[in-house]
Amino acid sequence: MSCDFLALAQPGVQKLSPYVPGKPVEALARELDLDPASIVKLASNENPLGPSPRVLDAIRAALPELTRYPDGNGYRLKRALADRYGLELEQITLGNGSNDILELVARAYLAPGLNAVFSAHAFAVYPIATQAVGASCNVVPARDWGHDLPAMLKAIDANTRVVFLANPNNPTGTWFGADALAEFLAAVPDHVLVVLDEAYIEYASGNELPDGLGFLARHPNLLVSRTFSKAYGLAALRVGYALSSPRIADVLNRVRQPFNVNSLALSAACAALEDQAYLARSRAQNDAGMAQLEAGCRELGLSWIPSRGNFIAIDFGRDAAPIDQALLRAGVIVRPVAGYGMPTFLRVSIGTEAENVRFLDALRQVLAT
Ligand SMILES: *Cc1c(COP(=O)(O)O)cnc(C)c1O
Repeated sequence: MSCDFLALAQPGVQKLSPYVPGKPVEALARELDLDPASIVKLASNENPLGPSPRVLDAIRAALPELTRYPDGNGYRLKRALADRYGLELEQITLGNGSNDILELVARAYLAPGLNAVFSAHAFAVYPIATQAVGASCNVVPARDWGHDLPAMLKAIDANTRVVFLANPNNPTGTWFGADALAEFLAAVPDHVLVVLDEAYIEYASGNELPDGLGFLARHPNLLVSRTFSKAYGLAALRVGYALSSPRIADVLNRVRQPFNVNSLALSAACAALEDQAYLARSRAQNDAGMAQLEAGCRELGLSWIPSRGNFIAIDFGRDAAPIDQALLRAGVIVRPVAGYGMPTFLRVSIGTEAENVRFLDALRQVLAT
């Protein structure tokens, strides 16, 4: 007699599907017997610049300490973040990627009978973190693919403990402005923790996107989560952080694994934070690449959702799966988003100029056949 260990899992977990990451270059190379060097991956919103040399130096310098546990408190990185943003150390929680932060929030504040509010087409980790702890997902229909903040406010009930907001959102790239955020925060009930996920904030040039940190002083129920994975180029190392009131940070610290951020990641993040020239290059190449992809789409007669991230969701007006398959055969990996309720779209990360050309050339051929 063997037990059904799916049936034994808690009900929220039974209903989950695993997160589907972008296909790794090595996997496609194996499947189609292609030279990995010939493959272009624009599927995971990774930074196409490669790591900053200062980050590589910092990692090398940290290697002799590999036998030791990392600083479980992450003092040096917290100090650097506190200085940069004019905050107290007690307001910072470090995470093994900002996904870890989202999970800490769910573990600390959600449980069966409680719910988290988030938008349709929002980041896939929100439902995973919510259902993993047996809480329910209170999903609010989107408006023009973006968050409908007034509708999200209305969806909050007595059992809501968390609202996840992504600004800009992934995979849609949509964003909301400072006034909309201010109105939302002013109206949200005090018992609801607002998680403002700013994974792409460093790409937002100009003042169209609010800086969530400006709202922390007035809103003790606000948590801003950020990451080193995108504009800082450290996706492989897994470092993110939350900025909040000390009270919330204290709670998250209670459920956090003692050494959740490894020592190479801590050293690399400190070096990355100091290398603001790298960040400026990331932003400049993203702006140029976004313009390049938009021009390419325009030329091909395709529509897209305007984006403030390092990616763009292109609408093919029909099932995008065959287009995705044809691009894979041409050695170009992009991201299908049918799982996000967007079956006619493909999400394409902004690459280097040459990678963007490769993608657009492949797409032109695929659409012509
Ligand atoms: C990429 C991304 C994250 C960050 O992931 P990490 O765990 O920090 O690598 C968080 N939120 C959104 C919306 C993202 O797209």
